[in-house]
Amino acid sequence: MPRRNDLEHKALQLIVNVGDDGVLQAELWRKLDASSREGSRIAIKLEGKGLIHRERELFKGRWTYRLYAKRKQASINSIIDCPCLMCPNDSRCGPWNSVSPNECEKLTEWLLSLT
Ligand code: SF4
Repeated sequence: MPRRNDLEHKALQLIVNVGDDGVLQAELWRKLDASSREGSRIAIKLEGKGLIHRERELFKGRWTYRLYAKRKQASINSIIDCPCLMCPNDSRCGPWNSVSPNECEKLTEWLLSLT
């Protein structure tokens, strides 16, 4: 039987990996081969640590929780259109150089487009 800290870690990994859709509590415990009681304790503990949040959801006539990670998994898609990736000045650019991200209009425009 896996230790509780191992289960906590695996549970958090699974919740992070499912992304924005979240995962139903019961589905997660099935994947972890944990009991629902043990699973509920882990979910409450992860929520208490501020790592996930739970939302009540009616599923097949029963109330349960859907679990969402607070921290999102990093994705290459989030920076795929960053101007620095294809910039001809990339090798010369640095915070203390004559070409600097501090003064770069392209980078500023891109950052503002994210908000
Ligand atoms: S900050 Fe501007 S100049 Fe520097 S690498 Fe990015 S796009 Fe190029």
